[in-house]
Amino acid sequence: MSDVTARLLRSLPLASVLIGRNERMLGMNPKAEALLGADVSGRHFITAIRHPAVLDAVEACLADRQPRKTRMPTRHAGQDMTYEVHCAYLDLPGAEGVLVSFEDLTHVEQAGQMRRDFVANVSHELRTPLTALLGFIETLRGPARNDADARERFLSIMAAEAERMERLVADLLSLSRVESEERMRPTARVELRGLIDSVLRRLEPVARGGGVTLEGHLPEAEVTVPGDEDQLRQVVTNLVENAIKYGGSGGTVEVTLTAAEEIPGLRAPGARISVRDHGPGIELVHIPRLTERFYRVDSHRSREMGGTGLGLAIVKHIVNRHRGRMKVESEPGHGSEFIVELPARS
Ligand code: ADP
Repeated sequence: MSDVTARLLRSLPLASVLIGRNERMLGMNPKAEALLGADVSGRHFITAIRHPAVLDAVEACLADRQPRKTRMPTRHAGQDMTYEVHCAYLDLPGAEGVLVSFEDLTHVEQAGQMRRDFVANVSHELRTPLTALLGFIETLRGPARNDADARERFLSIMAAEAERMERLVADLLSLSRVESEERMRPTARVELRGLIDSVLRRLEPVARGGGVTLEGHLPEAEVTVPGDEDQLRQVVTNLVENAIKYGGSGGTVEVTLTAAEEIPGLRAPGARISVRDHGPGIELVHIPRLTERFYRVDSHRSREMGGTGLGLAIVKHIVNRHRGRMKVESEPGHGSEFIVELPARS
């Protein structure tokens, strides 16, 4: 293979190999070496590539000189990968053969799978309350038509199911808005002490209803960070609501705000919001998954408490947008602490 061809191969952005008319590997670029192994030059292409669909495409392209493309699922460094493989016939002086390029479509495939899972999850979440509503409508039209007591009871269950659907749709909309803005840094400035104080006042009746005492430990001075006020309000609200819902049996929920010149997780000046409960806590295996959409430690309890399974996913996206960090510390039997750290400067 000529020096020019070797340089051309090296400049290609995709993992690429050139297979000569004699069916031997003429050359490859470093990305292809990483994919197929470095010592395959000069060998017959069957020993280097091995994937049946790709071998067929190369053989056909050598025979009729027409371009081809095919898929190659494989495992590389312990991970499932998908490549789209393009074969094109080259007729260069000193380098005649098939140029095979491997385009990594793993991320596209994963995104497609995530989208399908998400649609399936949303459909499932909506179907449960819808099925209940349809069942009660049927009953009210038929057997319970003239039963005033039953009507009242069923209508209040129907209202609760409709509210569940409404909450789900509201959380889905909020998640989609937050995701679409995630790359746009917030430009306004938000004062966190007043914001947390107002969230605590608003949730006070909810806490009291659940037998929980809310304690705010707020600093003397104001704490201001660059941020989106509505979104940061949602972060504090979601975390405090969760602490009341899931950790309420511990009696108190403490919300602490501190400002520091150096926030360890951020290695920069910033603010730290901690929401601590003394409930049953969360086992370590669940902690990394809490921010996944629809992930619940105990689905039955979450549904009973009116949860949508989206609250912490929304929190994560908002914190990311603010270039902050969220940490969860918990020991089963000793409650949980959700910590959000936000940088003080944009
Ligand atoms: P949900 O709508 O179910 O509350 P979230 O995304 O807000 O959804 O929370 C996900 C799951 O994390 C909850 O279902 C619950 O199992 C768990 N969780 C959240 N906060 C706490 C907490 N303070 N104590 C124990 N478990 C919690």
